[in-house]
Amino acid sequence: MNKNSSNTMALTPNTSNKRETVCIFGTGDFGRALGHKMIQSGYPVVYGSRSTQISNLIPKDAEVLGHAEAAQKAAIIIIAVQRQHYNFLIPLAEVLRGKVLVDISNNLKLNQYPESNAEYLAQLLPGSKVVKAFNTVSAWALQSGTLDASRQVFVCGDDVEAKQMVMDIVRSLGLTPLDKGSLLAAQEIENYPLQLFPMWKFPIFLSLGLTAFFFFYCLALDVIYTYIYENNNFSFFIAITIPNRVCPVMALVLLALVYLPGIFAAIIQLYRGTKYRRFPDWLDKWMLCRKQLGLIALAFASLHAVFTLVTPMRAFVSWRTSKGIISQALNNKTEPLDNTKAWLSDSYLALGILGFFLFVLLGITSLPSVSNSVNWREFRFVQSKLGYLALILCTAHTLVYGGKWFLSPSAYKWYLPNIYILSLIVPCAVLVVKFVLIFPCVDKPLTQIRQGWERNPKYSE
Ligand code: NAP
Repeated sequence: MNKNSSNTMALTPNTSNKRETVCIFGTGDFGRALGHKMIQSGYPVVYGSRSTQISNLIPKDAEVLGHAEAAQKAAIIIIAVQRQHYNFLIPLAEVLRGKVLVDISNNLKLNQYPESNAEYLAQLLPGSKVVKAFNTVSAWALQSGTLDASRQVFVCGDDVEAKQMVMDIVRSLGLTPLDKGSLLAAQEIENYPLQLFPMWKFPIFLSLGLTAFFFFYCLALDVIYTYIYENNNFSFFIAITIPNRVCPVMALVLLALVYLPGIFAAIIQLYRGTKYRRFPDWLDKWMLCRKQLGLIALAFASLHAVFTLVTPMRAFVSWRTSKGIISQALNNKTEPLDNTKAWLSDSYLALGILGFFLFVLLGITSLPSVSNSVNWREFRFVQSKLGYLALILCTAHTLVYGGKWFLSPSAYKWYLPNIYILSLIVPCAVLVVKFVLIFPCVDKPLTQIRQGWERNPKYSE
């Protein structure tokens, strides 16, 4: 038996609150990081290893024994070994009978095996109580203490008492256990760390697709058309002018797409007369990524604000301004201030600034640290009421700026509408339908449905 206790100062367990010994099989990266954290939290830790040689990497104050000997010292055994080596546990079945085995393993790809690793472990050792936990926490995060983004630990298992014991450990390590139910949930929990931004895929692909579409649309109308028909080379528009058209358009369209699924949901509920039937899959998925769509919209709005601020520095703008001044001087004629134009330009700027302010407010309230500090009603108020107000202001901003092109025939190059006209279609549709939905004759039945009333109850007495 080896005892590793050369430095007793470093991680002295909290003896005032004596905790039960925990056994960890495997002295690899994760086993060591978890053991280190457990000792810090006051748990005596004993390692079960193929080699009882002490290495400098093993946490101070931990014991290192053979597997069978270590298992006898604890009621909970954490299996910090890859699934492909689980066969070494079979000869230990008797020692492990009745013990809680914590499966922390991950795979290299989604659904790598027909059953989850935890279910496989339970099949190998039917006499033990298997609990899945800790697989979503990384060894590095445990070791460095940077657990802010991943405090949640998914836990599942068939034995309620065993699961409770593991959740108690999770809590005392300063993490938050989330009970995911029986061991059947293990497959989902194991797939979780293998997914790359699952909630961001659709919003990112949609944004890339729309950005490319609007970019080439502007390129065709503002650069290629002008070159062919007006013999002007405005290719430098690619750097700032076109991005500063595409960004606000994207911000507005994506913000409208945040509120569009809610409109569809309301129409579906009104049509079905119940809230107890599931929405179609596409709508469910769309609803779940509204926050991501909103954050991408905010990024485009911020870029638009920055592009707009640099506009006065541009050579093209100073050339256009001096050309105007020189032509007035040559004609010996000062153009009077056009009050309507001044009103329009000040109004669209004011609407844009207010809309952007609300946009930023929506973004800030979606941060977990902020949303956790407001109640559900306050969160709904900001995200729904202020969100719609942001949409109204941004739509009005675009309308006041781009409205002048609606009736001008020169705006329809190649019979195509100006990009600002295009960008207003979805937001205006959302606002008009929302306006209809808040009419009392529509809002009342919708509110009743959302409170549980059904037009044709399935289970009437
Ligand atoms: P690792 O560094 O490769 O360590 C695995 C340990 O398993 C080895 O150090 C060894 O310990 C033991 N082992 C290796 N071959 C064995 C065999 N044939 N029979 C018995 N024991 C054997 O792996 P790890 O990164 O610590 O990961 C361990 C488990 O934690 C994996 O299932 C992994 O998916 C999971 N996990 C890891 C992380 C992470 O960030 N690393 C995060 C979440 C979950 P001894 O030499 O002491 O016997």
